[in-house]
Amino acid sequence: RVIVQPVHFYEASDNSGQGLEPSEPTVGLELLCVVRAVLKKIKRRVMVGDKVLVGSVDWVDRRGMIENVFQRKSEILDPPVANVDHLLVFFSLEQPRLEPFVLTRFLVEAESTGIPFTLALNKTELVDKETLASWKSRLRSWGYEPVLCSVESRYNLDLLAFKLRDQTTVIVGPSGVGKSSLINALRSNHRVSDGSEGDNWFEPPVLGSKWFEDQRVGEVSTRSGRGKHTTRHVTLLPLAEGGYLADTPGFNQPNLLKVTKQSLAQTFPEIRNMLSANEPSKCSFNNCLHVGEPGCIVKGDWERYPLYFQLLDEIRIREEFQLRTF
Ligand code: GDP
Ligand code: ZN
Repeated sequence: RVIVQPVHFYEASDNSGQGLEPSEPTVGLELLCVVRAVLKKIKRRVMVGDKVLVGSVDWVDRRGMIENVFQRKSEILDPPVANVDHLLVFFSLEQPRLEPFVLTRFLVEAESTGIPFTLALNKTELVDKETLASWKSRLRSWGYEPVLCSVESRYNLDLLAFKLRDQTTVIVGPSGVGKSSLINALRSNHRVSDGSEGDNWFEPPVLGSKWFEDQRVGEVSTRSGRGKHTTRHVTLLPLAEGGYLADTPGFNQPNLLKVTKQSLAQTFPEIRNMLSANEPSKCSFNNCLHVGEPGCIVKGDWERYPLYFQLLDEIRIREEFQLRTF
């Protein structure tokens, strides 16, 4: 399904040089599209969130053909969504209790995607004011400004909705913290309802409602004859303030595979700040890992320094293992 967006497009045959715009009433319409065969041949997959060029449009039957896929500005694989421009790192203070090391792994993974993110701590009603205040200042010392919220008591959900506006967001975090509850809360409140959950989508949608959905059906293995369909289903829910939210939470086991020994330091705001504060003086070694090398300007007097060490060790072991394996 493709939603018609208000963009300029040009027709090759139109030599007046004027851009044509889809007429107002077509903006927001959903078109059921097939993917042009040549795109499949060159293995150009169409993902949820992709911006695409559609041709051969039949405005009456609302059908068309995806002719091309525009370059993605980002892409995540779990769940598969293109053009994600915001992650919501979601944790709970209790049940399960906030664990600095687990949180750090998620923060490092989120930092390594290069996608901007918001950190939110859920279930505030389960802890007292002092605990809230101390987590807040603790995370501030890490370099983060968390949103404290409670899906159950609806505390700060408006603030979260506000942070999500005009962006395509995927929620990530460990299991049990309330990710699905949050998605449901934002969905029931903010969804522009056209009365359908997907089945009767072919009915005329409410004008201006723009939501799209895609279903990927896994390759059928004809050779093995197993022919098992694996279906990944992701929907981008439209938010009332604009923007979209993926209806499926993202990674809940950060594997940190994109992080190297060298890049790890850049995923810690504490180190980033020390390095930028000391410019132009830098560590003596260009490839300094900040673990006590001579001439290193990163001091060890911050809370997460031991966690940095621990992750560095984990990555070092993985990199050595990879070297030996391949
Ligand atoms: P997920 O695994 O991250 O998707 O977590 P769920 O959304 O399934 O929620 C796990 C449990 O936490 C459920 O029993 C929710 O009802 C509960 N829960 C979600 N938000 C809150 C909250 O703000 N406060 C409390 N006390 N429980 C919550
Ligand atoms: Zn250093």
